Amino acid sequence: MKRLVNPSVTREVVDRFSFHFKKQLGQNFLIDANILNKIVEAAELSEADGALEIGPGIGTLTQALAEQAGVVVAVEKDDRLIPILSETLSDCANVTIRHADVLDTDLHALFEEKFSGRRVSVVANLPYYVTTPIVMKLLEEGLPLRSIVVMVQKEVAERMAASPGGKDYGALTIAVQYYTEPQIVCKVPKTAFMPQPNVESIVIRLKLRESPAVSVQDEELFFKVVKASFAQRRKTILNNLQHGFSLPSGKEAMLEILQRADIDPTRRGETLSLDEYARLADEFALKR
Ligand code: SAM
Repeated sequence: MKRLVNPSVTREVVDRFSFHFKKQLGQNFLIDANILNKIVEAAELSEADGALEIGPGIGTLTQALAEQAGVVVAVEKDDRLIPILSETLSDCANVTIRHADVLDTDLHALFEEKFSGRRVSVVANLPYYVTTPIVMKLLEEGLPLRSIVVMVQKEVAERMAASPGGKDYGALTIAVQYYTEPQIVCKVPKTAFMPQPNVESIVIRLKLRESPAVSVQDEELFFKVVKASFAQRRKTILNNLQHGFSLPSGKEAMLEILQRADIDPTRRGETLSLDEYARLADEFALKR
């Protein structure tokens, strides 16, 4: 099969199967070979590795992954793409196509079945309408992942890689940086896709950490504190926490927790570092 990463080949396949792009499934297929190479290079795959692709489309990125990784599994939600993938990837013996919604997929079982013993990277041009739930699922399920190399909407990449103090820094930043070290790979113009999306894109590499960036007594509580702190961005950390947690002795108890964590109660959630959130969560843990 010819390389799909090219406007005329992609158009030919799409037309031959009378395929119509569905905006609600985030279907913007990659047609830029230079960007495709950058994605694959960032994943640093070898024959010993596994690659999980989410949303293979007509198989453009999958073709390249099949050449680099030992085993490739691609999960595609749209049933209309399954017969197309059977044809475009018919030469790729190491590729398995799974027709499923990745959010409903038991990834532990899939990893056990297809990748057992291999290091796995997720490599994908993600459907933008579900980027955050997909990335959170990959991070929270404790899968044996080495890295996640994904194309996402520019603003989402900026949130993932943000530093404290700016408008991009939020609950997503903290979750991503707790589990991974993010690194922007490249910016991607709209013209790299068919059809062109309304937004600019970025390829980002999330390298999984050996252990989380900060150690906390209670991980669930840590994320609850983070979520509550960003509930209303304009409010102070004190107000947000009071709203999110109702402690028996109210404001006094909250002020004491903040003081013990050495955090000024008039600060806003977006100014706290991961270390400060960890300290704060551990003070909450003591109060329970
Ligand atoms: N990888 C292809 C490429 O780069 O040309 C297609 C990328 S396109 C941005 C996103 C793909 O994700 C589409 O094929 C879409 O049908 C698929 N998709 C959307 N939602 C999905 C979900 N929940 N689970 C799995 N695949 C999904």
